Amino acid sequence: MTSDVTEKDKRDQLQIANKPDDVAVLVNKQNKLPANYTPSDLVEPNVPFIFKEKEERRLMRKEAAKALEELFNAARKDGIDLAGVSGYRSFDSQKSLFTYYISVQGEETARQYSAEPGHSEHQTGLAMDVSDTKGTCAAEDCFADTPHAKWLDKHAPEYGFIIRYPKGKEAITGYNYEPWHIRYVGTDIARTIQREGITLEEYHQRKTELTKK
Ligand SMILES: [Zn+2]
Repeated sequence: MTSDVTEKDKRDQLQIANKPDDVAVLVNKQNKLPANYTPSDLVEPNVPFIFKEKEERRLMRKEAAKALEELFNAARKDGIDLAGVSGYRSFDSQKSLFTYYISVQGEETARQYSAEPGHSEHQTGLAMDVSDTKGTCAAEDCFADTPHAKWLDKHAPEYGFIIRYPKGKEAITGYNYEPWHIRYVGTDIARTIQREGITLEEYHQRKTELTKK
């Protein structure tokens, strides 16, 4: 993947994910996906969405899509009706979105919640933004106060998902608290992250330290 590393990447000390298909892949401001990475197993989960259009943002990788269906079914049994807001996003879609946010909000503000193309978890096909079925507080701070957010915080790891950008971890994740952005990592890792109260960044950090010992 050396051809993906540009001179600018080297200056910024960027890491290129060498296993972009790994469900534990770390994608953040320092770690990017290989150029033009597209998951090969994108499918549409059979769950409600807050929009009718047949768009790429319905998609997730197969394993994550199945887990999302199980998560939503379990929530419904507890009286919590969830809907998908935004899943897979291609490099090009992220590029348009990021450019748009910068034009509206300015670069500094935009960077607190939007990723540069190649740096969005949505490009992995393992992330989904969720809300209630009416789309109330979809991708907005007020989602934090809903029973939906509380249910997800407690139960998402049982189905392999983590709240990727938790409150109080902004300095580590590089993003504001996003109670609606869930990321599939598989049940083992999700449960560890929940139990230890850590982020995916810290999980990877610990793993690296263990292999050094
Ligand atoms: Zn998101």
